[in-house]
Amino acid sequence: MIKFMPEPRLLESPRGRAWPRPLSTPASPVGVPLPARANVVIVGAGPAGLAVASALWHLGIRDVVLVDRDGRPCHRFFDRIDRLGQRVLRSPYEHHPGVEGYRDCELLDFARLHWSLLTDDERGEIRMAQSGHRSVVPVDVFDAYCRHVAAVHQVTERTWQATVTRLRPRHDGLNVSTDRGTIDARFVVLCQGEERRQAPGGWTGGYWDEPVPASARTVVVVGAGLSSAHIIANALTSGRRVHWVVREVEERYQCADVNASFFRPEGRAKFDAGSWADRLTLMGRHRRASVMFEFQPLLRAAEADGSLVVHRGHPVADARIGAVRLASGETVVGDHVVFALGTTPSIGTELLPAEVVAARDGWPDLDERTLAYRANPRVFAVGAAACMVLGPAARNIDGHRVATARVAATIAARSGIVTPTRTLVEAGALV
Ligand SMILES: Cc1cc2nc3c(=O)[nH]c(=O)nc-3n(C[C@H](O)[C@H](O)[C@H](O)COP(=O)(O)OP(=O)(O)OC[C@H]3O[C@@H](n4cnc5c(N)ncnc54)[C@H](O)[C@@H]3O)c2cc1C
Repeated sequence: MIKFMPEPRLLESPRGRAWPRPLSTPASPVGVPLPARANVVIVGAGPAGLAVASALWHLGIRDVVLVDRDGRPCHRFFDRIDRLGQRVLRSPYEHHPGVEGYRDCELLDFARLHWSLLTDDERGEIRMAQSGHRSVVPVDVFDAYCRHVAAVHQVTERTWQATVTRLRPRHDGLNVSTDRGTIDARFVVLCQGEERRQAPGGWTGGYWDEPVPASARTVVVVGAGLSSAHIIANALTSGRRVHWVVREVEERYQCADVNASFFRPEGRAKFDAGSWADRLTLMGRHRRASVMFEFQPLLRAAEADGSLVVHRGHPVADARIGAVRLASGETVVGDHVVFALGTTPSIGTELLPAEVVAARDGWPDLDERTLAYRANPRVFAVGAAACMVLGPAARNIDGHRVATARVAATIAARSGIVTPTRTLVEAGALV
């Protein structure tokens, strides 16, 4: 058996290179009022919203408005990644928000087009991807690619900066209220992503997406996922000492954050075959925190030299400024505590009437074939909110592609546009 050997240097891709600009440089609609009407309103312009808008563009549906708090495609995704100092993606080259089935310029094509800008390690990873092996994608390449996709599918100029506050169903669509005006839409696609998971009430400390104060010499990190690993690596590099509190008896290292089978039709079919209870069990088992293999040598070496102390098998009982009390009664002391407790999916609860979301165990009630809310077939969910239909990979970039194919084909069908994907959806063949 071939043993996978992690190479920590793969985590070191450069960030901020000058990528060639797309042929036409689109401008965001800054200062332009929100349109009063649109065929489709997409709430959230992250990788999921970008994928949906690009797919609709290919289907000829151009009367689309994206509304995003930040007003720029994928801003929150890259902002979070850069705050953590993350230089490579966890997902491979095949996972991208480009459009399935349209022979678009995909992420691997895009990287190869910019060969001269890549490092030797990055070129090596492209060769790995071309020969079907696991490969590591630089954040810098993915960022440039997302800007390319946003530009060529006219997403940038259709992304308005505003916060959607309410969706009111009407007989022929929805009224979308924002802090900058309202839009009447025939269809709405929710692509809101996930919010950081809050620590229990009363715990005090910082969060994974906030800076560590410069004065903190010893940092206590709570959580066992990739964000924790980045925070620890950054702290160690800047000469700090770190205590890492892990609830499980052993931290987990794996390539992707969910089992690779869930990115493939057979994994999704396994999920499809299960009852609601089976799906909840699978979600619990497969959404557990883990760290990319490449971190393992680095963290093990820090533990060996004493700059990192790992408290394994310790649930946290309480956290106050600089001190974490473990369930065992032991107290771990530092200058600053960071909570990296993961994220919780936004499922539309704060926007839609409760009877439309029909939340059960924290998940919305969606039609399995179309991803529309069963109680209002004009509203769809793409991204983490679709996990109980598509499986744990729905929150990942590749899951957005699968969800997008269903949603875009359904909107096209209801708009009278015939597409090959529509035929597949109608035949129930697209999983
Ligand atoms: C640090 C980090 C690294 C990750 N790395 C990977 C990876 O390598 N590969 C992978 O597949 N996945 C990765 N993920 C998972 C990742 O979250 C998803 O793949 C992807 O970002 C989700 O895209 P999204 O569009 O659903 O959500 P987001 O990127 O969060 O976009 C949602 C957008 O909707 C906006 N929004 C929400 N509500 C409203 C509202 N009411 N009004 C207006 N705007 C609103 C938000 O502000 C945000 O801009 C990572 C996640 C994190 C946090």
